Amino acid sequence: MPELPEVEILARHLAPLLNGKTVRGVEVCRAKVLRPTSPGLLAKKLVGAKFICLRRRGKYLLFDLKKGKEQFTCLGHLGMTGRMFLQPQSAELPKHTAVVLDLGRLRFVYEDTRYFGRFTLDTTSVDSLGPEPLSPDFTVEGLAADLKRSAQPVKVKLLDQSLVAGVGNIYASEALFLAGISPRRAARSLKREEIERLHQQIRKILQVAIDCGSTIPLDFAGEKTKDRLFYFGSAPTASNYYVERLLVYDRSGKPCPTCRTPIKRLVQAARSTFYCTRCQR
Ligand SMILES: [Zn+2]
Repeated sequence: MPELPEVEILARHLAPLLNGKTVRGVEVCRAKVLRPTSPGLLAKKLVGAKFICLRRRGKYLLFDLKKGKEQFTCLGHLGMTGRMFLQPQSAELPKHTAVVLDLGRLRFVYEDTRYFGRFTLDTTSVDSLGPEPLSPDFTVEGLAADLKRSAQPVKVKLLDQSLVAGVGNIYASEALFLAGISPRRAARSLKREEIERLHQQIRKILQVAIDCGSTIPLDFAGEKTKDRLFYFGSAPTASNYYVERLLVYDRSGKPCPTCRTPIKRLVQAARSTFYCTRCQR
């Protein structure tokens, strides 16, 4: 499932391919992903509009377009299984195509096997997001104030997108491991130095993941088998060097990289958490 680094890498990959391209046609195969925008309205707005910028906010993609003097934004979200990529007009569309934008020689394809993602003119989802974790808006003071107000386990609270935008299940587990904090601790029980460590590790783990994804060839069209690094999957030319990058996530029963204690899996708020009972207190 895509988290902030994956969406950031996708935005950096797509931006130069989309910028300056004009939408010539819109085909909606799954109207569900557009809601509340209707297929008719999407086509009316997009046809003739030119992509001018692509930004990321949390796990959302914000496509800025311009038509005449009017500027507007289209919001994209990959849900659990979504992919967004460009392919030649002549290439066959994937089976679970949700939306296709005709860009002339190329077309933009959003495909999603489970249709939990979005491609819509309704951008209100970003209004309630918390600070960007890699921006100066994400402060120890702000994080401390939010955690103090919550009796939820800290791991569950970290997934709250109004606390900090874009942190999901994988990086919440990884950041708590690196900070040496048990995912079961009540958010409000964290001490100042623990919050400082957590803040630092959240930023570090996300930056490392972005840097890592920027340096290896990825397969954005998703024809290849998924690996554990990025849900996009590595391109066939990528080495397997980075595959074991995750320290605790999805490593249940395997030795902790620090103390060799088997990693434990726990279910919190219907999501898996992975941690070391010895290193995380
Ligand atoms: Zn350990």
